[in-house]
Amino acid sequence: MSAASREIREEILYWCRESVRTGLNFNTQGNISVRLPEHNAIVITPSGIRYDVLTVDQMVVVGYDGKVIEGDLFPSTETDVHLAHYRRRPDVNAIVHTESPYANMFGAIGRTIDPVLLNMVLYAKGAVRIMPFEFSTNADFGELSASLMGDDTNAVVWGNHGMLSVGDDVAGAFKVAVAVEANAQVLHGALALGTPNVLVLADITIPAGARLP
Ligand SMILES: [Zn+2]
Repeated sequence: MSAASREIREEILYWCRESVRTGLNFNTQGNISVRLPEHNAIVITPSGIRYDVLTVDQMVVVGYDGKVIEGDLFPSTETDVHLAHYRRRPDVNAIVHTESPYANMFGAIGRTIDPVLLNMVLYAKGAVRIMPFEFSTNADFGELSASLMGDDTNAVVWGNHGMLSVGDDVAGAFKVAVAVEANAQVLHGALALGTPNVLVLADITIPAGARLP
């Protein structure tokens, strides 16, 4: 019996394919993981396998100590980065890494992605910070990424590379990635037109009982 249920493996595979279909990833870019708290482990996509041929059996279970528990393939090269984020944020159960173009435009110039869309402020919780370029398998990369994201937002962009977003589950983390990318696209255009109105979550009054988008 695997530490990671078939349901969780299928959920990861579904969102991997969605990440390509929606233009958030290309080729074998990106990775997705889910926390397995009862096993002190995570299950993560393997390194270097195209999502259209990836199977549920190829996911890799890795302990919080970084050692592979189950799986025949190498886990994602960014497994240590995911583990650092799970250590920092006990509230996080899933992580999605994408390499979408508009978020990466801001990453390439080191400019914070300010929220100008309601979805972004609701799901990412605030401005998304940019981490200066560094190779993602460097030992301190994960700690830097996790501390830059902090406890107050749900996404961070790695300069000249991509985005990492977190959530209660994969669908939630993916929603953050989509919201940040859409926001980055609109912000890119809005900055060309004029001075965008930047939203701050604390300043928005959400009526009691309101259903969120
Ligand atoms: Zn990457």
